[in-house]
Amino acid sequence: MTVYDDRFSQYITDLFAAQDDGLRHALEDSPKQGLPAISVKPEEGRFLQFLVRTCGVRQAVEIGTLGGYSGIWIARGLLPGGQLITLEREPRHAAVAREHFEAAGVADRVEIRIGDALETIRSLSAEGPFDFVFIDAEKSGYRAYFDWALANVRIGGVIAAHNAFRHGALVDPHNTEADTEAMRAFNRRVASEPRVISTIYPGGDGMVIAIKNVE
Ligand code: SAH
Ligand code: MG
Repeated sequence: MTVYDDRFSQYITDLFAAQDDGLRHALEDSPKQGLPAISVKPEEGRFLQFLVRTCGVRQAVEIGTLGGYSGIWIARGLLPGGQLITLEREPRHAAVAREHFEAAGVADRVEIRIGDALETIRSLSAEGPFDFVFIDAEKSGYRAYFDWALANVRIGGVIAAHNAFRHGALVDPHNTEADTEAMRAFNRRVASEPRVISTIYPGGDGMVIAIKNVE
């Protein structure tokens, strides 16, 4: 019997994912500024922070900044002197995120790069290898982002990707939307990749996690 449901999600959030003013502000202010309310949940943010610290991350990349909520969690998991480079296509989202990074006290550790991440990742390779990559942008790009991440993280580096469950659509056999099929293909791609050890963390909307094992 699986016992995990929203009550346990809330229980974890209340116990382990308490938000300070900076996090709460980023989460609540983003929709007020017209951004979609699609940030990771506190429970997932805490998990990202935990991952980043367990793998001793100095150089992290995020693909899909939005209002900076997940970026604040990631930035707060970095080792001292570490840096997060976060990629965002929409200048408006980047401007809002910049305010939120400042309010949360992490602006000194975070650099936002504006542009289509499918393009900006190309020149970013020269700044690697990276310790951690978080993928949370358009679903049709996930496979390309994963291939890039796999080539640009060190051995022992971790790749995480949000929305593994696509709000339940993935396990609904009648749902054949393009983004659902894209996530199914993505999950299969990661699961069958022999260079990583991977699984899905089932909190929130599901997080694909993969650690690079060999070059
Ligand atoms: N990680 C954020 C949520 C990201 S939502 C959080 O949890 O707080 C997805 C973001 O990806 C949006 O801001 C969207 O504008 C951006 N995005 C979508 N396609 C993109 C692309 N090709 N390149 C860069 N950013 C993209
Ligand atoms: Mg997401």
